[in-house]
Amino acid sequence: MANVVVVGSQWGDEGKGKIVDWLSERADVVVRFQGGHNAGHTLVVDGVSYKLSLLPSGVVRQGKLSVIGNGVVFDPHAFVAEKVRLEGQGVSISPQTLRIADNTALILSLHRELDAIRESAAAGTKIGTTRRGIGPAYEDKVGRRAIRAMDLAEPDTLRERVERLLAHHNPLRRGLGEPEIAVETILDELVSVADEITPYLDRVWRLLDERRRAGDRILFEGAQGTLLDIDHGTYPFVTSSNTVAGQAAAGSGLGPSAAGFVLGITKAYTTRVGEGPFPSEQDNEIGQFLGEKGHEFGTVTGRKRRCGWFDAVLVRQAVAINGIHGLALTKLDVLDGLDELCIAVAYELDGERIDYFPASPAAQKRIKPIYEKLEGWKDTTAGARRWSELPAQAVKYVRHIEELVGAPVTLLSTSPERDDTILVRDPFED
Ligand code: GDP
Repeated sequence: MANVVVVGSQWGDEGKGKIVDWLSERADVVVRFQGGHNAGHTLVVDGVSYKLSLLPSGVVRQGKLSVIGNGVVFDPHAFVAEKVRLEGQGVSISPQTLRIADNTALILSLHRELDAIRESAAAGTKIGTTRRGIGPAYEDKVGRRAIRAMDLAEPDTLRERVERLLAHHNPLRRGLGEPEIAVETILDELVSVADEITPYLDRVWRLLDERRRAGDRILFEGAQGTLLDIDHGTYPFVTSSNTVAGQAAAGSGLGPSAAGFVLGITKAYTTRVGEGPFPSEQDNEIGQFLGEKGHEFGTVTGRKRRCGWFDAVLVRQAVAINGIHGLALTKLDVLDGLDELCIAVAYELDGERIDYFPASPAAQKRIKPIYEKLEGWKDTTAGARRWSELPAQAVKYVRHIEELVGAPVTLLSTSPERDDTILVRDPFED
């Protein structure tokens, strides 16, 4: 399998940045296939730290092609801002190194506004969005009224597209007590960036097909995590796109048979940001320990993440839904020093033991995790690069996770440093 799809197997923030960074060095093409400028990877290349929100990780490396697929929602102004910021760090971004699918839907200022209005109004039922307009932009895409990147190159029809979009948004805004928006306002917003975007537009489906046929290694860089998937996640506390591996195909235009090795990035414990169910949450000194030791604060928002024990039921479900071939297990070192570790192996629902996470929010509220206890370890795993450097109890913990979730560990990460990784096998060589 020459290509690799990276997905988060929990609620995101599994440490995809480090693994994607490691893999992107080995890839020829790096593709984003869902989400928007809320991805929040931090990459460290040659000692320099780069923060990426929208752009694929390939942009910070020489000689790689980066691709924004049609499954992404694309904010042209956020793109320009990120490009300028990276250029300030010496990264050169040009149509030779970056291509954007011409059929990608755009995020506009009205989407950002709507996101913020709704989150502020919805006291008590907040989804906890990043207020970047990503959800409203996907709504317009599915509602068949989105402005797409290719429309920027067609000034004659752009006005028509904007009128159609506002025919939906202005009544909605009136209902929310917000002022209406003039067609000219949106047109000006788009025309002001069109020249910065159109040189990057491409038929990405064809480009990827050609690259695949030429034998290039393609890395699909997923954002967020399986439990935030619009269909398979903890709805409605989810993101507005499909985050699962199947989306790598639909969100880029390369067929699923070419997707290759599916690598599930998995944290050695569990975290989630914002509202929603979290069965193994530890709202106590254990959660505090994990949050502080693991620096569990959002890269994009700075929000504190909720922390808890490893949940094998959820990851087993993620293995099935994504077709995960192997796990990249991260942040094992955060567990160093705990006397005892728990793993959720099943749930109790109304007095019965179940081995899956129920889809119904009402049932999700009633489930109680059934834990298995394992002995912790006093020695450190931080910085280990070989299995032999790990305490026996840590190896046992990892092996038990593999057994419980039904997928082998392909990579084991033991610190934020890129070389502090135990490589079991190279997913590109599998
Ligand atoms: P992403 O959204 O999945 O890329 O995850 P984040 O970037 O939000 O979280 C990953 C954070 O954990 C980053 O600050 C990484 O440097 C750090 N990290 C990644 N792998 C490890 C690891 O194995 N151990 C420790 N201690 N930190 C790690």
